[in-house]
Amino acid sequence: MSDEKNTALEWISLNKDRCIKISDTLWEFAELGLVEFKSSTLLADELEKHGFKVDRGIAGMPTAFVATWGEGKPVVGVMGEYDALPGISQKKLPSKEPLEAGKAGHGCGHNIHGTSGLVAAEAVKTAMEMHKIEGTIKFFGCPAEENFSGKVFMVREGFFDDIDAVISHHPGDMNAVDLRSSLALNSAKFHFWGNASHAGGSPEQGRSALDAVELMNTGVNFLREHMIQDARIHYVIEKGGDQPNVVPAYARSWYYVRAPEREQLEFIYNWILDIAKGAAMMTRTEGKTEFLEGIYDLIPNRSISNLVVKNMREIGLPEYDAEDLQFAREIAKTIPKDTKVSQLRKSKRPGWERLLDRLIDDEIPEPWGEGETIHGSTDVADVSWQVPTVEFNTATWILGTPAHSWQAVAQSGVGIGHKSLIFSAKTMATTVLELLVKKAYLEKAQKEQKERIKGKKYQSPIPKDQKPPLTAWE
Ligand SMILES: [Zn+2]
Repeated sequence: MSDEKNTALEWISLNKDRCIKISDTLWEFAELGLVEFKSSTLLADELEKHGFKVDRGIAGMPTAFVATWGEGKPVVGVMGEYDALPGISQKKLPSKEPLEAGKAGHGCGHNIHGTSGLVAAEAVKTAMEMHKIEGTIKFFGCPAEENFSGKVFMVREGFFDDIDAVISHHPGDMNAVDLRSSLALNSAKFHFWGNASHAGGSPEQGRSALDAVELMNTGVNFLREHMIQDARIHYVIEKGGDQPNVVPAYARSWYYVRAPEREQLEFIYNWILDIAKGAAMMTRTEGKTEFLEGIYDLIPNRSISNLVVKNMREIGLPEYDAEDLQFAREIAKTIPKDTKVSQLRKSKRPGWERLLDRLIDDEIPEPWGEGETIHGSTDVADVSWQVPTVEFNTATWILGTPAHSWQAVAQSGVGIGHKSLIFSAKTMATTVLELLVKKAYLEKAQKEQKERIKGKKYQSPIPKDQKPPLTAWE
């Protein structure tokens, strides 16, 4: 281990309790996307206290910020997310019990996501200072990953231009550097307006907006037969009228459309727009599309992924105490065997069957999944089109824990989560330092990036005049 890496690791070990406290405080705040006011302030204040220059409220989002230390090239960034999920409140217990019924909870472990990056950035700064390392370290405070894709706005405003590499960590049930891509996504609402009338007395006066929603859904469901295998379309009907004896004058559906590449996505999305028009025409209603969110597919980076795995192995896996293992065993009782099998199989990790009778991931596998795609989406993808980017996982939850579950909320606030936080912060700090110090690593990552996006072009998936939906929760 090099001197600068040792400095960073020692700093993290010394500051362990403070770091865990920050993560637990974010866990308690559990704020929703774009209103993470207390969470973003806590992180930004911490960085400012440690000598970073902080720009707050960037890219039109009061809870987005970027913290910078150092100057000149290379510039390496770490990202942190801190938004929670609605309705998933849970106590730090191995049985389902909300902390406050109906409230938000950190079901994706973003309390750890936000803190691991912050700790890594501070440790890197400490090592840079002590060993006179040239370059710049940046922490990107990224709001609203779960629903409004804050990073896409930050990318559109140029905050990731001129950055040489970006790393972030995401909680998971495995220690994993997955090379799979993710699906591009569009999210949109379809509004229809018709005429209200007495459904029994004067149906001929009525034009049903609900009919339009239903016919649109029917059309889209027929479209499914003619789309590529890996595409996904899901919808909900948000508004479908008030009572049966009134012809619904207004109805609304909300769609997510996903596909492996942006071009494939746009083909399907445009077809859906035609279907919506057709539904309005058929029902003699007025239709309007409200575009909400667009995301690209993820560009992986094998060079940085290899570096992450190398550092994970040098640091070594966390050790769990009796209390951690007891909690883990209790949680395991609440996760059905078939859920665990499905989770592990879906990971496509080579030899996943081996993990079936293990409680916590005790391996650090080689990066895997090149050329494959997961069927979710993330706004990390839009960053990955600008700069070589890697987001890795560490075992924050026991094997088989589904993300966005009460089990994930509980574990993100206790021992296993804390250990994952420290392990991931150390992994990130050492990887960033290597990218700053060893030119060849960075050059290799950038060469790979160029090859991966050769002949392709990134164009912001959100319209020029679209602003972040700051009042979405009101
Ligand atoms: Zn997440």
